[in-house]
Amino acid sequence: MAERLDRLTVLGHALGEGRLMFRDRAALRRHQDRQARAHLRWVAAHSPFTARRFLDAGLALSQWRELPPVDKAGMMAAFDTLNTADLRLSDVLAVARRAEDTRDFTPTLPTPRGPVTVGLSSGTGGNAGAFVVSRAERLQWAGVVLRHLLPGFPLGLLRKQRVAFLLRADGGLYRSVGSARLDFRFLDLLRPLDELAAELSADQPTLLIGPPSVLRALLDAGATAQPERVVSVAEVLEDDDRAALERGFGPVVQVYQATEGLLGLPCPHGHLHLNEAHVHFDFEAVGDGYLRPVLTDLRRATQPMVRHRLDDLLLLSDGCSCGLAARRVLRVAGRQDDALNLPGGAGRVTVWPDFLRGAMNRVPGLREYRVEQTGAADLSVMLHPLTPETRPEACVQVRRALERSGADATQVRVIAGPLAPTPPGVKRRRVQRLWKGGVP
Ligand SMILES: [Zn+2]
Repeated sequence: MAERLDRLTVLGHALGEGRLMFRDRAALRRHQDRQARAHLRWVAAHSPFTARRFLDAGLALSQWRELPPVDKAGMMAAFDTLNTADLRLSDVLAVARRAEDTRDFTPTLPTPRGPVTVGLSSGTGGNAGAFVVSRAERLQWAGVVLRHLLPGFPLGLLRKQRVAFLLRADGGLYRSVGSARLDFRFLDLLRPLDELAAELSADQPTLLIGPPSVLRALLDAGATAQPERVVSVAEVLEDDDRAALERGFGPVVQVYQATEGLLGLPCPHGHLHLNEAHVHFDFEAVGDGYLRPVLTDLRRATQPMVRHRLDDLLLLSDGCSCGLAARRVLRVAGRQDDALNLPGGAGRVTVWPDFLRGAMNRVPGLREYRVEQTGAADLSVMLHPLTPETRPEACVQVRRALERSGADATQVRVIAGPLAPTPPGVKRRRVQRLWKGGVP
């Protein structure tokens, strides 16, 4: 019975979502203002940390757009007084880590307002985040995903849909979407790749959902499937992966989902749009057209996200052929941690990971790579395959990318070596800064 009610709740959210597909920015903004007014009043009354931020800044709730942003480290430091479910960070972390060990990806903690689901986000340099969502928030999330991802919703539900999920975590969130007309299959990423590929080929899902690195690995392992849609989640979708997945499986759309929330969804034309019906975005310009989002989630109540600064960098475009008012995302660039910091002509310069990805994409015969900054002026370039052709070409392309970024390539040591395979399910970072010195 509870399960049936859940399904109806999810479908209700999914149908309601249709009203929120704004085609006019002024109407979208009015909707956000309305949501923010009610939501922030509730949050300020239940989250002492959030109330304190407004007091310290001398701002009324109505001036929320001017509130100084908080980042992940600040959120974690204030976790106990930020969340509205009376949770302690130490308890949340203990539950989350136990779940990682036992591969139970739906760990819950009891609270006075019902159980909450706990998740951890990986971060570099010990910068992990803890995230909690209530049951009601999960059901709403599921409705939004259903509305945006199922081909031809709601008529698409008249046909039986077979959905294959390749997910390391968060399985419980997606499971909420299940119903009689939806057949869900979860493929456990701990199993050998060729077994998973064979199972996927036998399943023939209509919707295939997973991180692009895992989908790509399955494709390379010989998986054949012709889904109506491939949905890339959890990682940045890079151009070469998109092209390979479209050739191998079919049309690829992207969901921009972080532990901070459901931030972007594909439109009917297959492009990624910000989820502005539920999340308000402000932006800080960081140069070269890249923008760092400062988001305010207009619904999330268990762990409010008010003027929360993300590590991601976005490139946005003006409008989309689909006519939706929500802004279109051209690119989710690598995390801030992955921008490199190298000597330039006058002082040190930032080298965006996109430049290095572009460089490596120009190396013929290269299938996979990783670039790590290991010192103030040291780059380690790991290549698969490492051959007499790929090694020198990769070094040439990296040096060109450095020069284009304003770095002094003559001062940078570039060492090439072989790349060890990444186990499926491990979040892949292709450009990483391990050296943490010299950067504020
Ligand atoms: Zn669009």
